[in-house]
Amino acid sequence: MKRIACFIIAVLALAACRPASIEPGYIVQVSLGSWDSPDYTAGEIIDRIDSVSSLINVKKVIIGWSLDKDIYHSVGSFLHGKGIEMLLWLPVFAETDEVCDNIPAVDLWGDVPANYDLAAGEGFRFNCPSDPRNAANIISLYDRCFSDCGFDGVFLDRIRTQSFVGGVNGVLSCGCPECVRRFAAEGVDIDAVKEECTAKGDAFFSVSSYAPETGFVFENPVAASYFKAKGHIVSGSVAAIADSLRSRGLEIGMDLYAPFMAPFVGQDYSILSQHADFIKPMLYRMTFAPAGMGFEYGLMRDAIPDASGYPEFAMELAFLDSQLDAMTPYPCAKYPGIEINYREGVAPTSPGYVTESLEAVIAHSFEGAVLSWNIMEAPDSHIACLGR
Ligand SMILES: [Zn+2]
Repeated sequence: MKRIACFIIAVLALAACRPASIEPGYIVQVSLGSWDSPDYTAGEIIDRIDSVSSLINVKKVIIGWSLDKDIYHSVGSFLHGKGIEMLLWLPVFAETDEVCDNIPAVDLWGDVPANYDLAAGEGFRFNCPSDPRNAANIISLYDRCFSDCGFDGVFLDRIRTQSFVGGVNGVLSCGCPECVRRFAAEGVDIDAVKEECTAKGDAFFSVSSYAPETGFVFENPVAASYFKAKGHIVSGSVAAIADSLRSRGLEIGMDLYAPFMAPFVGQDYSILSQHADFIKPMLYRMTFAPAGMGFEYGLMRDAIPDASGYPEFAMELAFLDSQLDAMTPYPCAKYPGIEINYREGVAPTSPGYVTESLEAVIAHSFEGAVLSWNIMEAPDSHIACLGR
């Protein structure tokens, strides 16, 4: 009876808010919790994907990152039987400390940047993007724990430094000796960056202009060269990890900050898109937590209140469109991330919000969209409205 009622609700929601014409391919995410035993059984996941895939065209499932191999074997057989790919959700520069002995990132002054509200479970330490031991740990983790689980690919998450969630010092990282050496190889003297930053204060971050295609233009030439080099260093490390995993026959997806904020966390789209099969820029307009576009931008402006040149960005459709435009030129497949989960006060989404976001994605003729962040808990009405 409950199933029939659900079906009727789904059909009604479908009729009410179905977006126009072309059917995009969807990627859904299954968040299993941490490295411990998974939050759901294989049966629960299979039932959920089965019902979701009757409503929308599911192409790939990103699942992770419990160490329980059995769940991937069971879910993988089901997905492959339906022609759906299974990708491992793999965090790279954070959240692996329970299973790897990593070298933490430090700020330019050698201190580990602050975490965001650890008590609320919202924070995590980032690791150095340059230390070869960290990269080797990730590859070895895949080889030891996941290589025999039937994955078609990996979805690389946390491929960045800390954001303004860790204050200014989170963004001015990593400054360890190996990173300093790599900055020098890019022509950037970190001592000069520190001096300039200390002398100018917030004005170090001031910008002279912004355009979606080119991003912010820093007024200060030292800041400009610092962030350019940071993008080369962090994204270069991610590229090497991606290439190593690709050599194992894996498809590569990447979780990215929205184009306008990406330079602050070391994500250079032009480098990363050459080493990814697809990118998922997180274009969350209604997430008031890390990676939410307005949330991160607000944190930045609070962290550097006297920096000039930063415009007001209302998190409206026009802003989403500007970010979709900005990602258009890159060579890999594009699946923008739209949040469909609901959480009171944190992600107050609605079927209308989900539908209008998807229509904007469809208008850009990308391959599809990633429905974030956990299909197991997303409201059915937020899925049905995307349906066939
Ligand atoms: Zn470092």
